[in-house]
Amino acid sequence: MSRPYSEVVRPGIAAMKLYSSNREPCAIDLSDNTNQRGAPPSARTLVPEANIELFARYPNHYAADLKRAISAHLGVGTDEIVTGCGSDDVLDSAIRAFAQPGGAIAYPDPTFVMIPYCGQVNDLALRPVPLLGPERGWDVDADALLAQRACITYVCSPNNPTGTRASAEAIERIVAEAEGVVLLDEAYIEYCGGSFVRRAKDAGRLLVIRTFSKAFGLAGARVGYAIGAPELVAAVEVSRGPYKVTQLAERVTVSALENDAAWVEGGIREVLDARARFMPFLERLGLKPIPSDANFVLVPVKDAAAQTKALRERGVAVRPFPKLPGFGDAVRISVGPWEIMERALPSFEEVLSCV
Ligand code: PMP
Repeated sequence: MSRPYSEVVRPGIAAMKLYSSNREPCAIDLSDNTNQRGAPPSARTLVPEANIELFARYPNHYAADLKRAISAHLGVGTDEIVTGCGSDDVLDSAIRAFAQPGGAIAYPDPTFVMIPYCGQVNDLALRPVPLLGPERGWDVDADALLAQRACITYVCSPNNPTGTRASAEAIERIVAEAEGVVLLDEAYIEYCGGSFVRRAKDAGRLLVIRTFSKAFGLAGARVGYAIGAPELVAAVEVSRGPYKVTQLAERVTVSALENDAAWVEGGIREVLDARARFMPFLERLGLKPIPSDANFVLVPVKDAAAQTKALRERGVAVRPFPKLPGFGDAVRISVGPWEIMERALPSFEEVLSCV
C-alpha cells in the first residue's frame, strides 16, 4: 500500500501526542495521587492477599506486559498491538480515530450490533450492505461494500450473529481496494482458524480486532486488542487513551496466554464437537440452523420473542433476533460443552419451531 496513513487518520487525532506520565517503578511513589494506604479492606475478601495491591495503583499506561505476551502468542511486533477494555473499546477507539467528518461506515447486514451504534456515536453515515445469500454461503458482498467508499469498512468473520465466515477472497479484495480503513473483527476466529493477524501489518490499512472474551474465557476481565501497521495502531492508542486494561485483568490475561494454551485448545475442540452434535439435533426438529464457524448457531424460528420467552421460562436463555435482514425471526444459541447443551435439549424440543 503506497497511500499515506495520514489520509485515513482524523486530523485532530494525527496532531495529538500519546498521553504519558512517569510510571517507572519507585520505592516511594508519591507521583500519582493514589491512596498510599493501598486497597480498601473489603477488596481483600475477594482477591488473594498477594494480588491486592493491584487495585491500589495505576496499571502500566498501555499494558506493556500484555503486549509482550500477545506478541509472543501471535508472532507480531509489540508496536503492531493496541489493547483495550474489551474489543468493544478497541473498536470504538478505532472508529473514533478513523471517522472522518461527513464520512460513512460500511458493514455487512446483519452484523455485530455495536458497529452501527459506534458509527452513530461518531456521526458517521451508516451503510449496511446485505450479506450474499445462502447459495454464496452468506459471504460478504465485497463489491457493494467497496462501492460505499466509506472511511471505515467493517467485516466480522465469523460474523455475529450469523456464525458464517467471510471468504478470504472477499476480505483480500476489500483490504486491497477500500478507500479508508478496514476493521476485520476476528472475535470468534479461534473456532475456525484462517486469521489475518500475521498479514495485517503488510496489508496496509487493515486492523484485525481480537478478544479474550470468547475462546480464552475471560469476558469479565474485559480485554481486547487490535493488530495492524504501527501507524494505525498508534492512532487507535491515542484515540483510546491510557489505563484501559486494569492491572488484575492484565495479569490474568498474561497468565492465560503463558499457561492455559492447552485449556483453550481443549475448550475449542469441545465446542466443535458439541456443535457437530447440536446441528443434526436441530435439523431433526425440522429447523434449518445456519451452518456455523463459531461457538454459536443462528436458528430461524417462527416468533423469536415468544420462543425466547418460553425458553427462559424453562430456564434456558438464548438471544432473540426479530426480523433479522435476510433471515426473518431467529434465535442465536451459544454452544458450550455437550453436558451443558444436553440439559437444554428437552426445552429446545418443546419450544423451537420454524415458519
Ligand atoms: N466483536 C464481536 C463480533 C462480538 O460478538 C463481540 C461480543 N459480543 C465483541 C466484538 C466484543 O467483545 P468484547 O468487548 O467482550 O471483547
